[in-house]
Amino acid sequence: MKRRLTSLFFSHIAGLLLVWQFFNSVPQASAANWIVRAQPTRLVNGSPALFQVKPPARLESLHATWLGHDIPFSFDAKSRMWYALAGVSLETTPGTYAIELTGETKAGKTPGEKLSFGRKFAIARGKYPKIEVKLSVEGKFTEPNPEQQKQIEEGQQTKKDYLNRVTPEREWSGPFATPADAAISDVFGSQRIFNGKTSSPHLGLDFRVPSGTSVAAMNDGTVLLARPLYFEGNFVVLDHGQGLLTLYLHLSEFKVKEGEQVKRGQVVGLSGGTGRATGPHLHVAVRWQGTYLDPASLLRLRLP
Ligand SMILES: [Zn+2]
Repeated sequence: MKRRLTSLFFSHIAGLLLVWQFFNSVPQASAANWIVRAQPTRLVNGSPALFQVKPPARLESLHATWLGHDIPFSFDAKSRMWYALAGVSLETTPGTYAIELTGETKAGKTPGEKLSFGRKFAIARGKYPKIEVKLSVEGKFTEPNPEQQKQIEEGQQTKKDYLNRVTPEREWSGPFATPADAAISDVFGSQRIFNGKTSSPHLGLDFRVPSGTSVAAMNDGTVLLARPLYFEGNFVVLDHGQGLLTLYLHLSEFKVKEGEQVKRGQVVGLSGGTGRATGPHLHVAVRWQGTYLDPASLLRLRLP
């Protein structure tokens, strides 16, 4: 009797499992056809992210929403994959976040069809150094007079006008390259103190270079800005498409003009110590859709 009850119990469980599998197999069957990967494999707040997608059908276009941003994908004919460069802001709380993809199939005899798919990615907490660097900069940067305040506001307006732009087409091609062959003097995310006052985290990567060193474009792109600003000094901004910009600060000389197309490795300017700088060095920043990302992490991505 006990054995019969046991076998009855197990057959019941097996039946439930079959039902469970049936219901689960429906979404899994369609989901199995999408391949969605991210680089780096461990995403943290402040890191750039390359999304690589292989949809189940030939698509005309592919878009996604990720952390409240709309991200345009580009098709790479060589690998037959769709790619988008995106990121995770420094302020993002660690947790699990979904990328929601929407693609449109090519219209032929039948009109294009919308396909969608979602995948979750874990975002861990980035480890950024909390080194208190006691820096001394000129008073005009910490206590500006009205004329200087006006110049600061003009700079802020210029940045507001240009630095949040998103050119959907991809201009970058292949991996990003270092802008200077030199030692790193300060990393992204570190906390700094100016004249005893705590400043916002360091949102770029510093290279220890003397004045007059060639500064190279990190990838192909278009010169969005090449002009002096109050804090940034002589400032070059390149637009690489897909909302990704690279910024080069404190230059002593410009080697490009706004609107010009540049290739990776092309000299965009010479290093210097203009603007708010304690001495000659190169500060490089990476901006994606209004948020700063870790340039060192971008340099490590294996890009198509
Ligand atoms: Zn810096």
